[in-house]
Amino acid sequence: MRPQQTLARPFVMEGRGLHTGASVRLSARPAPVHSGLVYVLGGERIPARVPFVTGTQLATTLGVGTQRVSMVEHLGAALYTAGVDNLEIEVEGGEVPVLDGTAGPWVEAIQRAGLLVQAAPVSTLRVRAPLRVEVGESWMEVEPSEQLRLTMGVTFAHPAIGTQHWAGGPADFVAELSWARTLGFFADAERLVAMGLARGASLENTLVFGDEGPLNPGGLRAPDEVVRHKALDFFGDLSLIGAPVLGHFRAWRSGHSLHLALLRKLLEEAAYELV
Ligand SMILES: [Zn+2]
Repeated sequence: MRPQQTLARPFVMEGRGLHTGASVRLSARPAPVHSGLVYVLGGERIPARVPFVTGTQLATTLGVGTQRVSMVEHLGAALYTAGVDNLEIEVEGGEVPVLDGTAGPWVEAIQRAGLLVQAAPVSTLRVRAPLRVEVGESWMEVEPSEQLRLTMGVTFAHPAIGTQHWAGGPADFVAELSWARTLGFFADAERLVAMGLARGASLENTLVFGDEGPLNPGGLRAPDEVVRHKALDFFGDLSLIGAPVLGHFRAWRSGHSLHLALLRKLLEEAAYELV
C-alpha cells in the first residue's frame, strides 16, 4: 500500500478549449489528504468523481448546480497514472484546455511540480466480481485482477485506421499513451461546429482524418495512434473512481459513455472492496 500523494508545487496552464475555442486558464494546487481531485469554478467545488459526470458527448463533463467543466479526461489520466490523489484544480472558462490534444503537457507539468507524499495511506478499490456492459456491437467488461490492466480494441471502417489493439497498465502510460492525439474526422467537422462543438479544434490539437489519411503534417505518430488515444481516454475516465483500482478491464469499440456505464455499474452494484 502506498501513501496518498499531492503535487509538491502548484502549476498554471493556459490554452484554448477544444469545444468552445475560448481561452482558458487552469491553476492546480496541492490539496490535503482525503480531498481527492476537485475542480473549482464559479464558486462551486466539483469532485472529479463518477456521480458528478453530467455528459459524455465527445468529452467527459463534470458538474454541480449550473457549473460545468468539460474535457477532464486527459488531465485526469495524467494525474491518475502518476498517482496524484489530492489536488484542487481551478478552471476559468468551463473547459480544461486541450493544449496539443494529448496528455503530454500534463505529464510534463506534473513531473515539473513533483509529487508530495502525504501522511495517510491511500484506499485501493479491488474489483470482486466480473461485470459487463454492452451497447450495440460495443462492449466493456472488468474482472478481478491483482493489477490494474487494460486490454482495448477499436475498429473503424476508415482505410487509415482499421482494427487496432492495445494492452498495458498505468506504468506504460507515459511512454505508450500520453503522446497520442485526440481523433477527429474532417467529414464531421461542419456538423460538430454547427452543434457548438469542436470550435477550437485544429491540426495543432487534433489528429484529423480526411478520406484517405491524416491531414496533419507528419501524419501519424504511430500506426496505432487511435487506439492509444482511446486507452488514454479510458484512464482519464477511470480516474473518476477516485481511488487506485485493481482489475482487468477489457473494451471493444468503447468510448466515454460506455466507460462511464461500466464504472457506474461497478459502484452501484458494489462489485468491489476497499483495501
Ligand atoms: Zn481524448
